[in-house]
Amino acid sequence: AYLDSHVQPLSCVKDATLYHFRRFTRGVYCIKATTTKSLAKLFYQFLDCCPVLDEGLEPRFNLYAWYKASTHEYRAMVVLRTELRSHHFYSTGPDHLTIGPGAAEMAGVFVAPCEEDFVKATVPQLTEMLQEVSVSAEDEAMIDSRLTRTQPTIEVGIVSAPQIEFEIISDGAGPQRVSVEDGRINYNGTLFDELYFDSVTPSTLFAEPSFIIREVTIGIDFHWQRRQDQKFAGSLKFIAEGDNVVAINRIGLEDYLLSVISSEMRAGAPLELLKAHAVISRSWALARMEDRRKVCGGIPGQAGNDGKGGGNDGRGAGNDGACHLPHLNYDVCADDHCQRYQGLTVAVGENVRRAIDQTWGRVLRYGGSLCDTRYSKCCGGLTEIFSTCWEDRDYPYLQSVPCPYCDCHDRALLSTVLNDYDLETADFHDWEQRYGRQELSALVLDRTGVDYGTIESLEPVERGPSGRIKYLRINGSRQSGVIGKELAIRRALSSSHLKSSNFQVSTEGDTFILKGKGWGHGVGLCQIGAAVMASEGKGYIEILQHYYQGANVEQQQ
Ligand SMILES: [Zn+2]
Ligand SMILES: [Zn+2]
Repeated sequence: AYLDSHVQPLSCVKDATLYHFRRFTRGVYCIKATTTKSLAKLFYQFLDCCPVLDEGLEPRFNLYAWYKASTHEYRAMVVLRTELRSHHFYSTGPDHLTIGPGAAEMAGVFVAPCEEDFVKATVPQLTEMLQEVSVSAEDEAMIDSRLTRTQPTIEVGIVSAPQIEFEIISDGAGPQRVSVEDGRINYNGTLFDELYFDSVTPSTLFAEPSFIIREVTIGIDFHWQRRQDQKFAGSLKFIAEGDNVVAINRIGLEDYLLSVISSEMRAGAPLELLKAHAVISRSWALARMEDRRKVCGGIPGQAGNDGKGGGNDGRGAGNDGACHLPHLNYDVCADDHCQRYQGLTVAVGENVRRAIDQTWGRVLRYGGSLCDTRYSKCCGGLTEIFSTCWEDRDYPYLQSVPCPYCDCHDRALLSTVLNDYDLETADFHDWEQRYGRQELSALVLDRTGVDYGTIESLEPVERGPSGRIKYLRINGSRQSGVIGKELAIRRALSSSHLKSSNFQVSTEGDTFILKGKGWGHGVGLCQIGAAVMASEGKGYIEILQHYYQGANVEQQQ
């Protein structure tokens, strides 16, 4: 009768609707469907939103299903449970009752095999019995929220190349190819302005893979550059940009974060660290989406693949109203220039799912505005301020704060934070780089394009509060010059990227010795420091408020 009344559904798929039944114990849900397939589909979607207890494989529940011939409908009721039995069953005292509760009781029919139980059982006792085995009010609220919450769609530029090979997983057509011809997309000999392969992404759950892109290069120009096939969830769009075709992944923001966090850190990382990371990555991505929506027309700012050794560079973060978007045709790119995104190629662990789920939609704000949530691998003891690395401005929440945490040699903890190829760079807190004079001169010429002649000395002109060099004077036999800021210095002094610009220079004969601290720009959250804080039991909000002073975690509207 309840299902025949006009109640508000909680969720639906094609041909099936889900309701929360609130007239019995907690955690009772009903599904109405016109096909068994749609009933099963919605049922499994629903189960994904239910709590799994005690490391079990699936949620605990009683299930009742029937076919209603008069309306040609399949119907099901699911009663979620925590315990198998209430304390009454085990009690040896006067409140003992040899009553399940099993499937019959959870449907409201109490079976009392012993007559004495039938005589003495009271309504409060039976009510208590149901209460004890039903899911908690918090779990119930969580299920309802998972079923009804939504996520904005983000557009991610995955790869740009003259030709791209891909495969749509569900269509069975096998590997396909697109290329550019006359500024349009050539797909099987037909030219398109834009090519779109849609995929229905459920808003309540994490999406399954829907397509594959062949041979994507990741970590462009970094010491760990490599190529691999990559799997993605969400929809796929191709557009032409000059002589290249660009593959764009349209995907829910939370699904995007699932992959980003998994790429950035191991699933075994402390949960509170993963949650802190989910909030900063979400804030960062939303800021890029807002920027793109705000700005338009005009020519985007120079993009360039001038990433950095770990951590986001947060380019295009300038909210100065001008058209400085690093990417015009999508919100973010998939490389370290924005946030490393490898779709579902990366293994997604349970802890990462939990971290996104528990912080769903939460962002970091300062005075109502989204924070510029920069982060890097290891600050080296003190975090850096914005103006040492980028434009001449600073933010109240990006102060230089002491970080007594990141001088960490616990390989077990580090291996949960860094991916394999990042572990190859294990000397991150204190490092040393040596160059012969001729080697350094040739390197700087190659990296900067400026001929200083034979380099005589390197002189730090100005440092930021963490010790990172902001401007560096290069004195050579032909000329002298000043380079900066932080990233330019790191690029000039290494064939890939120097770990940081926080170093002291000395010489031994014709050898230059750079003794450095830290890895990355050091602004905002220090990932290794945050990992240590989390392993010491600190919560994600406390971690975030340490590195972003005065900022608050808020629910995105
Ligand atoms: Zn980018
Ligand atoms: Zn640190």
